[in-house]
Amino acid sequence: MDVDNIECVSSTDGRIDEDDINRHHHPQVSVSSISKPHSNINNKNNNIISSGIHPGTTSVHELLECPVCTNLMYPPIHQCHNGHTLCSTCKTRVLNRCPTCRQELGDIRCLALEKVAESLELPCKYMSLGCPEIFPYYSKLKHEAVCNFRPYNCPYAGSECPVVGDIPFLVTHLRDDHKVDMHSGCTFNHRYVKSNPREVDNATWMLTVFHCFGQYFCLHFEAFQLGMAPVYMAFLRFMGDETEARNFSYSLEVGGNGRKLIWEGTPRSIRDGHKKVRDSHDGLIIQRNMALFFSGGDRKELKLRVTGRIWKEQQNPEGGACIPNLCS
Ligand SMILES: [Zn+2]
Ligand SMILES: [Zn+2]
Ligand SMILES: [Zn+2]
Ligand SMILES: [Zn+2]
Repeated sequence: MDVDNIECVSSTDGRIDEDDINRHHHPQVSVSSISKPHSNINNKNNNIISSGIHPGTTSVHELLECPVCTNLMYPPIHQCHNGHTLCSTCKTRVLNRCPTCRQELGDIRCLALEKVAESLELPCKYMSLGCPEIFPYYSKLKHEAVCNFRPYNCPYAGSECPVVGDIPFLVTHLRDDHKVDMHSGCTFNHRYVKSNPREVDNATWMLTVFHCFGQYFCLHFEAFQLGMAPVYMAFLRFMGDETEARNFSYSLEVGGNGRKLIWEGTPRSIRDGHKKVRDSHDGLIIQRNMALFFSGGDRKELKLRVTGRIWKEQQNPEGGACIPNLCS
C-alpha cells in the first residue's frame, strides 16, 4: 500500500531512451524461452543433442527423461517389473503403481541406466544464453545452479515478480511492465517526498534504474520497521554478477539542517535478493526521527534529498574513475 504516496523527484543527467536500451540488447539471446523452465529446458537439450553436438546420444538422452515429469532423471532412477523407468520425485507421487503399465512398482533401481548416465557429457542448459561449458551428467546440475549465464530474477521489489531473463530483457521489463524510472549518468539527485511519514510499512519503497559505464544499477529506497524503530533505507544493486559488481563503488548522501549522513559501499548483485540486502543492512539507513529532522519543517512531511554517485574502481590505469558530468 501507499507506494503511490512516495513521490520521487529526480534530476540526473538525462533519461535513457529506447535506443539506448536496445543498443545493449543482444538479440541472439532468447529470453522468452526461459520463462517456462520445465518444458523448454528439455527441449533445449534435445535440440542441442539432435543438432549434432553429441551425435549418437539422442536415444540415451530420451531414455533419461522421466516419462512422467519429462525432467532428466538423476540417481536413484527407479523402474517397474516391466522395466519402465521413472524419477525418484515421481516415484513418491504415483502410489506404488507404474504410470506406464499400471503394475505394482516395487522398489527396483535401474543401475544400468544410472551407469550410462554417468558416462554422458552434456552442455550446460544455459548454452543458448552463452555458456560454453560441457559437463559430466552428474555435475551438470551443480554447475547450472551457479552458472554465470543463468537468467536473473526480476529485481523489482514491490511484488513477487516471476519474470526471469538476461539484463537487457529485465531492463526493458522494469521500464515497460513496472514503469520504473530510468536515468542515464553516474551521479544522481533524488527527492523522496511522503506526506504521512507516521505510516511506515514494508511495502513503502521506490526503485529507480541508473545506466552508466554501460551497466545498469537499481537504486532502492524504502521504509520498514527495524525492530521497533521505523527506518528508511537506500541501497544500490548492480544488474549483473557479484564479481562484476565489485568493480564498482557508490556513495549516498542525505542531509538537511546543516547535518548529513554519508554511505559508501559496493553495490550488491541482483543475484542477492532485495530482502537479503535489506536485512543485512548493507546500505544507507536513516532513523525516522533523523529523516524528519533532515526534512525540516514541522515533522509532518518526509522530504529527503538523496544524492549519490557511482564510480568504477580502478583496476588498471585505463579503467578511469568517474568525473561527474563527464561520464554518462
Ligand atoms: Zn519424474
Ligand atoms: Zn511399468
Ligand atoms: Zn553454464
Ligand atoms: Zn518484474
